[in-house]
Amino acid sequence: MGVSTLNDLRGIGKTRAEAFARAGIETLADLLNYFPASYRENRLIALNRSDPGSPCLVKLCVQSVPRISFFAGGRRAVRFQASDDSGVCDVVYFYQTYLAKRFCVGKTYYFYGRFKPSGSRYLAFSPDYSDGDQTLPAITPVYPLTKGLTQKMLQSAIAQVLPEAERIVLENLPAEVLREHDLMPRAQAVRAAHQPRSVEEASRARARFAFEELFFFRLDLLLLQKKRGIPSIAPLHAVSTAPYFAALGFAPTEAQNRAIAEIFHDLIGTGTEKSLPAMHRLLQGDVGSGKTAVCAAAIYLTLCNGKKAALMAPTELLAEQHARKLERVFSAFRFPVYCLTGTTPAARRRQIDAALNAADPCLLVGTHALISDRVSARDLSLTVVDEQHRFGVRQRDTLLSKAAEKNLLVMSATPIPRTFALFLFSKDDVSTLDTLPPGRQPVETYYVGASKRDRVDTFVEKELNAGGRAYIVCPLIEESEESDLMAAQSRFELAKARFKPYNVGFLHGKMSAAAKREAMQDFAQGKTRVLVSTTVIEIGIDVPEATVMCVENAERFGLATLHQLRGRVGRGSRQSYCILLSDARGKAARERLQKLCEIKDGFKLAEYDMDTRGPGDFFGVRQSGFSAFTAAREQDGELLEKASRSAQDFFEKTVDK
Ligand code: ADP
Ligand code: MG
Repeated sequence: MGVSTLNDLRGIGKTRAEAFARAGIETLADLLNYFPASYRENRLIALNRSDPGSPCLVKLCVQSVPRISFFAGGRRAVRFQASDDSGVCDVVYFYQTYLAKRFCVGKTYYFYGRFKPSGSRYLAFSPDYSDGDQTLPAITPVYPLTKGLTQKMLQSAIAQVLPEAERIVLENLPAEVLREHDLMPRAQAVRAAHQPRSVEEASRARARFAFEELFFFRLDLLLLQKKRGIPSIAPLHAVSTAPYFAALGFAPTEAQNRAIAEIFHDLIGTGTEKSLPAMHRLLQGDVGSGKTAVCAAAIYLTLCNGKKAALMAPTELLAEQHARKLERVFSAFRFPVYCLTGTTPAARRRQIDAALNAADPCLLVGTHALISDRVSARDLSLTVVDEQHRFGVRQRDTLLSKAAEKNLLVMSATPIPRTFALFLFSKDDVSTLDTLPPGRQPVETYYVGASKRDRVDTFVEKELNAGGRAYIVCPLIEESEESDLMAAQSRFELAKARFKPYNVGFLHGKMSAAAKREAMQDFAQGKTRVLVSTTVIEIGIDVPEATVMCVENAERFGLATLHQLRGRVGRGSRQSYCILLSDARGKAARERLQKLCEIKDGFKLAEYDMDTRGPGDFFGVRQSGFSAFTAAREQDGELLEKASRSAQDFFEKTVDK
């Protein structure tokens, strides 16, 4: 008989079940709903035509018996040589030493990965592989991975469950809606998403899920608005912002003033109302436009009214930075600022709990840990969410439901396209910062080959000499994390030798929270003036003295991420530089980097990014920068209208009759 739990699947024991659970997969339905992040077209190329910058598919014959060898740090790896007519490649798999028995000399296999020229040969770390005798489907799904999961494990598990999709997957859209919009039934769409016969079929499946997401999001919103339409919040009393700006140390720009006025209007009203609908506002503005100062004004108003406020940030680093900076501002008024993250010690937590239970106003800054379990929104009059698109669907849901009757301000630097913004917020609920603070010079951006690294370093040295600070960012992407971490480590060693007099720090995601904090603070205070880092620094980090941002293997980052990284410099009045190092040979990748040099405006970049998104980018959560939806995309304007209308009809017929 059929399978009913994950444990019934071939190849899933206790350890693997745990790995699946970490990715949020606990039931068969979870598994079927775990969609590919993208698809790759299976176009075979010769080894010597491969692009070291992006993954390629080759077919190689194994030439040497796989051997187990040791790498730095005691890492064990399987290593062998394989070749096609055009070249020879050293293939290395870390840890998975059982693979030594899998590969036979004289047999051919498909390999999918990055093949880097290395001397007269090529080198590949942990490429995906499959038997060379079979014919590959036209496209293969690529799943997002977390620790302990591989593409193979997911593919095999999903293939076992798909025959039962009809039983497991329940339709959730009304039949007439499916008919009217010619949408795939849910079970069929699930199958098409996991094992599409063509790009076209995958794309129809995605459209079905996008529709579904938009439909339900709209429906939720209608319900929420129905609730929100009822005035429920006591208006705040107006206060003068002059003392606040005096403490802040700079005058607001016109755009900031406008946004503050809009927010204050939401919170105060005209001064005659007895109660107001809760605020539900989006504040958008490019990286560096000064959103923090705007939200802090709203926080100031709230605290002056004797109430509590919370500011939620997507990472611990960012939460701590916000807490530090706002503490400086609010100490002038004796408003306490507390920082609560996943690593706050128990004793401190108790202090914070006590403060929250007391009547006095305070500001609580933290990661989502703050909203999800510790603090009920009941205690908070205002909740601000920074870099809102970084939060996952579930966190957003919790937040929205908890904040339904409270004042909510969400901030985003990744421009949400107008259609979406208006769909999530009514037109009057969006404030935009369309200018940068005075004295900013656009960041000069250059794109150079990695062979120029030495010249780049000379340039960095000159900047350091002139008093600047520099970031050097290396990619670290889960799929091949071992080799990436090694690359980041060796870049750090290189920088340490080269920039010795300036002290070089190192920061990556696997460090403890305390070590991360220290590395960040050392750089902020100028104890280290070069920071080699993985993308943990990407969002929000504000060190105005930094003037150079070097990005290694720039082709591996999405445009939104590169723009965020560039936004880490150019925050003071000094000319700043962003240098993209890349050996990518693909035309599309090169053009993308070139565009980043030309376009400085985030909204324009996002437009370009949308226009050029490839057919392979389907359920892309990571790069879309818009993670409230996994299937829906920014180009889905038309679909959005349809889904929105459908939901409205449904709402009127069922809920609101
Ligand atoms: P973002 O919108 O990316 O969150 P921040 O709020 O971090 O931007 O602000 C970027 C930098 O600009 C900070 O160092 C901040 O102190 C500074 N800044 C913000 N507003 C002004 C202003 N009106 N005048 C001068 N500097 C400002
Ligand atoms: Mg910010």
